[in-house]
Amino acid sequence: MLSTWSFGAVANRAGGPLLMAGTGALDAAIAAAAAVENDPAVDSVGIGGLPDSSGRVSVDASVMLAPDRCGSVCAVRGYANPAAIARRVMDRTVHIMLAGDGAEQFAAAQGFTRHPTELLTPQAQSEFNRYLVGRAAAPAPSRLGILPPMNVEERYAEASSGKYPVAPAEPVSQTPASKEPMHDTVCILARDRAGVLAGVCTTSGLGFKLAGRVGDSPIIGHGLYVDAEIGGVSATGNGELIMSICGSFLATEFMRQGRTPAEALLAVLERIRAKHTIVDAHQVALIAVRADGQWASASLRPGFSHCITDDAGTRLEPSPNVMLR
Ligand code: ASP
Repeated sequence: MLSTWSFGAVANRAGGPLLMAGTGALDAAIAAAAAVENDPAVDSVGIGGLPDSSGRVSVDASVMLAPDRCGSVCAVRGYANPAAIARRVMDRTVHIMLAGDGAEQFAAAQGFTRHPTELLTPQAQSEFNRYLVGRAAAPAPSRLGILPPMNVEERYAEASSGKYPVAPAEPVSQTPASKEPMHDTVCILARDRAGVLAGVCTTSGLGFKLAGRVGDSPIIGHGLYVDAEIGGVSATGNGELIMSICGSFLATEFMRQGRTPAEALLAVLERIRAKHTIVDAHQVALIAVRADGQWASASLRPGFSHCITDDAGTRLEPSPNVMLR
């Protein structure tokens, strides 16, 4: 099981033992996702997610086993576990993606329970209040200016206050370039004992995004792609950069052409760099697992850690493949 960011350790601790015990890849990945979605200390996924610019939290998620086995939901309010809802879309409808009200009605009909506080925690509310003060004082953000950068790993360490003592093996770089904007999706790729590969990508999206904005995470081929014969890829970071080049699909295709997972991810980051004006607040990170189990992670900038669980245990490690040092 390979997942993104420090809170990937929350995911792997929930899903890794299931995988080791013989649970199927998708069941284990959904359980792993739910652990992060339900953790209020993670302010970019599920309960505790930062709201949009109207003050309401919305969540997006996708799941995928193969091109003919995938599902997603986007712009969903009030439901903490969008990955599980996305799986129902895959299993019980002829569609791939449901959005907004329709997705919420589907979730209710499938027996999911609406969260009493609409996922907005007091901590996320107070971050929103700080954002409102900053917004009033600052000029309107440009398309490239995005949001005030904040370091996701610092935010998470503070919010979880040692609940998950999973510090990376090396300190995460504190250079200005490593400061993260308010985003960070949990992406999970799982390969089970039978060799089945599954991917899950779940997020509350960019903090304080415009209401209605949907990023890469729930869109098949952008935030997540799995082709059982080749491998799987999932992405986190500035969704607009990832969506502009179909990041996860592109990396899968690079693997299909024979590149290693690390080469494929770095080629995607190179494509992003070539097609965009990259600013300090930009970050993109990707994880890949090939059908034979070889895996890699890579990021545009320092500050990204992956969490890997295999027969040697669970390790939270800074990604060794960083494009801009
Ligand atoms: N990619 C997500 C989005 O743009 C956010 C993230 O991964 O940080 O919504």
